[in-house]
Amino acid sequence: MEERRGVLYVVATPIGNLGDLSERARKTLTDVDLIAAEDTRQTRHLLEHCAINTRLTAYHDHNEARAAAGLIETLESGRSVALVCDAGTPLISDPGYDLVAAARAKGLSVVPIPGANAAICALSAAGLPSDRFLFLGFPPRTSAARRAWTQTFAREPGTLVFYESGRRAAATLTDLAAVLGETRRAVVARELTKRFETFLFGTARELAGRLETDDEQRLGELVILVEGWQDPGGADQAEQERVLRILAADLPLRQAAGLTARLTGGRKNDLYRMGLDLGLGAGERDP
Ligand code: SAM
Repeated sequence: MEERRGVLYVVATPIGNLGDLSERARKTLTDVDLIAAEDTRQTRHLLEHCAINTRLTAYHDHNEARAAAGLIETLESGRSVALVCDAGTPLISDPGYDLVAAARAKGLSVVPIPGANAAICALSAAGLPSDRFLFLGFPPRTSAARRAWTQTFAREPGTLVFYESGRRAAATLTDLAAVLGETRRAVVARELTKRFETFLFGTARELAGRLETDDEQRLGELVILVEGWQDPGGADQAEQERVLRILAADLPLRQAAGLTARLTGGRKNDLYRMGLDLGLGAGERDP
């Protein structure tokens, strides 16, 4: 007879409002043999609120690989496990990847129990295009690293979605404006599903100013969204690139970008950035 193996449930929990815990999540957390939690104290509050007595074990960034091995043994012995993080969906800028990958590699069943996720929650109500988006998690912590990183998706047409702490949000918005330009629409979605839920609208530069001058807007948790890159129009990109390459061979990149803009109808700054992406103007610096 085939041995019964346990199931790994990946359970989303609320990001603020406990009413967002689904019936299915509640039942799963009640029925499993063990809950693997990012922070057992935090999850205990949720379980107490729901009168759930299931045993808890720690599974966080610092013990992820070791704890995953132990949990795989638990699953292989036929017991079921629910994976949760402090808030929202596990694995989304939260621990869990090692465990899910290991469970899949062993051919174990992994069942998602969907629910709250801050990025999707913000996108669903921000009013920015949602047909295509790029989730980027937390930006690097230093300004230089953030700007270099932002260059890598400066031409992504989908809406850009970031997680950030309130403390760093203004600096991050300033860097996003410097690299992505001053015209794109942006949204800061703060304290989602909580009492002081707030949506702020403007350009990234305007929102940086708002956060710098208003202490309250830096409190709590927030998601930053920025409109994706829009084709400047005019000549097609291949033609712009052709002209830019010819001119940049003999002129400084900034001047070549200006002339290309006049010849093809594009925007000078976009063409300058295109030149940098193409490796033209080596040795010149972005301001
Ligand atoms: N796994 C979680 C999820 O599914 O959304 C995300 C965890 S990540 C460690 C925490 C970040 O998510 C916060 O710094 C913030 O950017 C965002 N976040 C979480 N809860 C939020 C809320 N209620 N309102 C706005 N942003 C939130």
